[in-house]
Amino acid sequence: MLGPLVAAIDQGTSSTRFLVFNAKTAELLSHHQVEIKQSFPKEGWVEEDPKEILQSVYECMDRTCEKMTQLNIDISNIKAVGVTNQRETTLVWDKETGEPLYNAIVWLDLRTQSTVERLINKTPGRNKNHLKTGLPISTYFSAVKLRWLMDNVEKVHEAVLSHRAMFGTVDSWLIWSLTGGKKGGVHCTDVTNASRTMLFNIHTMDWDPELCKYFDIPMEILPKVRSSSEIYGLMVSCLGDQSAALVGQMCFKDGQAKNTYGTGCFLHIPVMSDHGLLTTVAYKLGRDKPACYALEGSVAIAGAVVPWLKNNLGIIQTSTELEQLAADVGTSYGCYFVPAFSGLYAPYWEPSARGIICGLTQFTNRSHLAFAALEAVCFQTREILDAMNQDSGIHLSQLQVDGGMTSNRLLMQLQADILCIPVVKPSMPETTALGAAMAAGAAEGVSVWSLNPEDLTEVTSEKFEPQINPEGKGI
Ligand code: ADP
Repeated sequence: MLGPLVAAIDQGTSSTRFLVFNAKTAELLSHHQVEIKQSFPKEGWVEEDPKEILQSVYECMDRTCEKMTQLNIDISNIKAVGVTNQRETTLVWDKETGEPLYNAIVWLDLRTQSTVERLINKTPGRNKNHLKTGLPISTYFSAVKLRWLMDNVEKVHEAVLSHRAMFGTVDSWLIWSLTGGKKGGVHCTDVTNASRTMLFNIHTMDWDPELCKYFDIPMEILPKVRSSSEIYGLMVSCLGDQSAALVGQMCFKDGQAKNTYGTGCFLHIPVMSDHGLLTTVAYKLGRDKPACYALEGSVAIAGAVVPWLKNNLGIIQTSTELEQLAADVGTSYGCYFVPAFSGLYAPYWEPSARGIICGLTQFTNRSHLAFAALEAVCFQTREILDAMNQDSGIHLSQLQVDGGMTSNRLLMQLQADILCIPVVKPSMPETTALGAAMAAGAAEGVSVWSLNPEDLTEVTSEKFEPQINPEGKGI
């Protein structure tokens, strides 16, 4: 007798997954994954098809349920479904027809660079908006993408004027569609996703009228903001992917940190008290529960370097080949790779930066380049951790990791070496989905976790110890 099950829709930048867990043991019982196509219509532009995203969710759910039936697991035991999603990616759709009015503009997209530069020149330094949102003005966040859609897509402009437009990040689009769509779907988002739009005030925990006026965005097109663990409709709860990973890693305490290595790379330190450093809303696990905040360090390009090496340079055929290629030489031989394809995020926030490969000699070959690509992810993480240490005075004794790139063991070892602290990888890699499923299960009252960290059982993990000392010499 299995007892209650909890599930998660994990809609990431490069793929969609549906995963079912045992609510009591957190054991992953079944899952299915579908790749998502990205299009690059112009230099710096990154788009995805909202209908393909939705279809991928249906496909993953259908296939997972088929697999469960084959395993003789009763799918009616799934008591709660959480959503976790790529954050900031911006959509507008017509609430009467249910049709998306343009492709989803992906978080990495740089089309709003000139708008952002104009806004930064108008409001330099740590401005009033930054204090309200915790975010620097950047192409990364949704408000400028939404502004672009309203200014440049006639259908969006018309739908806004005729009160038919709905804005949302991917969570809102999925929840609205899956709870009935044009026949009364629930138009909502959670605090973690809202906090990445630049329209949300992280102190009042609601949309900010002044910020909406600043970006000239009508508040009626915004979704209702809910907590990350409550019943929204047929769906239960939602958490932005990085917040879900934080919950799934059970990373609740001061002094802990997690880094998620997906398309980009996102380092979070939960901040339980107000150090005046609040950056992003980590989670709010229930309507009446307090919001918890986290310092976030974002790297735009991490795993995304892999398809670039594969499709643009042709030096690997699969992502797993990268590890072997880099391991063949075990050094970059003085070659450095800065994959700033979409500008640089933390700590520079420089949208005009571009990638560079340097230190090439006649001896450099594709293996050195592969090694330099892995090192680039680690060096960027190191840079963020150093900035966080300076800001918060928090010195970590280890880093908890997750995300698709963590299957690369060489990368994990390099990361431990470059940070000079152990890197700890849970044996169950789907921590983002687990976090979303846990939050959903708690809202339905079926998870054994009360989401009180003291009650949570330890997950098993693998530890990568640093092999070099801080002077850079092998131990
Ligand atoms: P997202 O949530 O952003 O879609 P995932 O956590 O699913 O990302 O991880 C996918 C990313 O991990 C892809 O960018 C892929 O290139 C990268 N990746 C997967 N396997 C490996 C590997 N063995 N070595 C390096 N990168 C990998």
